[in-house]
Amino acid sequence: MVKNRVVKSACALCVCVIFFSLLGCEANQTLAPAAYKTIVIDAGHGGIDGGVTGVNSGALESDINLEIAKKLKTALENAGFRVELTRSTSGGLYGALSAGFKLRDMNKRAQIINSCDADLVISVHQNKFSQEHRRGGQVFYQKGSASSAALAANVQKQLNELMPYSTQKSIIAGDFFILRQSPCPAVIVECGFLSNGEDEKLLLTSEHQIQLATAILSAVTAYFYSV
Ligand SMILES: [Zn+2]
Repeated sequence: MVKNRVVKSACALCVCVIFFSLLGCEANQTLAPAAYKTIVIDAGHGGIDGGVTGVNSGALESDINLEIAKKLKTALENAGFRVELTRSTSGGLYGALSAGFKLRDMNKRAQIINSCDADLVISVHQNKFSQEHRRGGQVFYQKGSASSAALAANVQKQLNELMPYSTQKSIIAGDFFILRQSPCPAVIVECGFLSNGEDEKLLLTSEHQIQLATAILSAVTAYFYSV
């Protein structure tokens, strides 16, 4: 009997060791995608360049971009990622307001991305279209970049789930300065249409901005699990 008890105890110990080992593996896998990864969040526009404006409120795209960028930074950092913002204030990155400011602004963003050894770039923007019915998120990537296309597909999937009413549900390839200058997977996320009154109302709420940040976080995490 004593011997049996010892065997049973030993077995129970083995089960415990295996169980906690598995738990340990799971915990490590949960943390793995974020470990040592640097994400650059680029809040589009800023300063004299406000981007597009809200159809009813006149709100500036640059301000909404910054709000979403800051919430995305918090979400990513809480998940363990290292995050750099290209801008953290309402100002632009062009220095003195003189001829060529837009090019200086874009070059500065590229310089920040390349100087921090980025693993991923998310450029946050808001959309506008002549037909007011267009709504929802749309993700762009640099033509020819398979890794950026994979990331874009992940983000688009999350945006489509968050905003099932979206009129645009597919990723789009193109040639974009900020994406071309990025040495890593990079996407432009148009979070919604400021030319649509319903989207505009949502984009101005903290709740929807957090939902957008959470959706992008899910897509980024899924991307790192897939590579
Ligand atoms: Zn924009």
